[in-house]
Amino acid sequence: MTEKRVENVIIVGGACAGYTAAVYTARANLEPLLIEGFQWGGQLQNTTHVENYPGFPDGIMGPELMQQFRTQAERFGTRFITDDATRIELSDGGIQRVWVGDEEHLAKAVILSMGAEPKRLGIPGELELSGRGVSTCGVCDGAFFKGEDVAVIGGGDSAMEDSIFVSKYANDLTTIHRRDDFRASKIMLERAKAVPNISLKTPYVPEEFIAGEDGRIAKVRLRHADTGETEELEVGGAFVAIGHTPRSELVRDQVDTDDQGYVLTRDGSTRTNLAGVFAVGDLVDHTYRQAVTAAGTGSMGALDAEWYLRDTPPSPEAHWAGRAGQTEPAPTS
Ligand code: NAP
Repeated sequence: MTEKRVENVIIVGGACAGYTAAVYTARANLEPLLIEGFQWGGQLQNTTHVENYPGFPDGIMGPELMQQFRTQAERFGTRFITDDATRIELSDGGIQRVWVGDEEHLAKAVILSMGAEPKRLGIPGELELSGRGVSTCGVCDGAFFKGEDVAVIGGGDSAMEDSIFVSKYANDLTTIHRRDDFRASKIMLERAKAVPNISLKTPYVPEEFIAGEDGRIAKVRLRHADTGETEELEVGGAFVAIGHTPRSELVRDQVDTDDQGYVLTRDGSTRTNLAGVFAVGDLVDHTYRQAVTAAGTGSMGALDAEWYLRDTPPSPEAHWAGRAGQTEPAPTS
């Protein structure tokens, strides 16, 4: 019987963080295996123009940016499985196991980069008008709504942040929340309230996004949470900002996470509570969630994995030594 190949590193999740981790680990000759997912590319696959990724002064389409990330990872020898990981068995300093269906893959280190997905309202028109005026990222798409009347839905810090950001471009902006009390921090709420073209509308529950003749969003139907009365608000855009869900379901009961399921990392690194297990990107980050920050932590995950593997055989002690007890590997650029 032939022995099963044990990879140096398996990266789970192909988007900004995962592809960057692949570029770095491939250039470090670690021959990474990237299980990128059937629908690779993450949230940028659903975005149009990306104007805030440095290096592209004229902007770039989200899917094209992801294709370029992928091509760069491929150029240095990353091997891809374009399918979803279906099971992950994490080990503290031992062999990490990842399944794609019946196919089992082994590795000395694993970089988890499964990302997060925006929560959806689950109402009619939401998916159909996504990219046609309905967005889940104000910071990404706000600038495309110059002079429009827009709605932002949600009552947390994300909704306040999106409202404040989008209000710079929008004409009138209505922040719609289902309760009279806001979950947002006081300071963010006060900032939003101080913006002249933002008005808060509570307690209203969005029931439907309605398209106009041009196929783009034209109205949001709202229901008063107490009286049940409905009304329609005319808008040229709507931002759903009701939080994100980290895609940690395959590892949630094995690695330390916070109460929302974001994987916890230590000491400003990508190290988790398990030796040889690293976590990067939106799977970890519920605050910044930008393509560029995800890519940044992808490179950190690759370096942390590289330093861990350099101390062969991997041991929990080496993992915990982290940067403090180690010197950096020889430059690979
Ligand atoms: P969040 O705090 O969970 O708030 C989500 C909001 O959406 C809540 O007001 C919730 O209403 C509402 N919501 C959820 N599901 C809904 C539904 N089906 N229909 C209508 N409304 C719904 O999420 P977040 O705002 O994304 O913030 C997540 C974390 O990131 C927080 O810790 C936040 O402080 C942090 N963050 C910080 C900043 C910043 O400081 N600059 C910016 C963004 C995020 P209920 O209140 O009624 O549940």
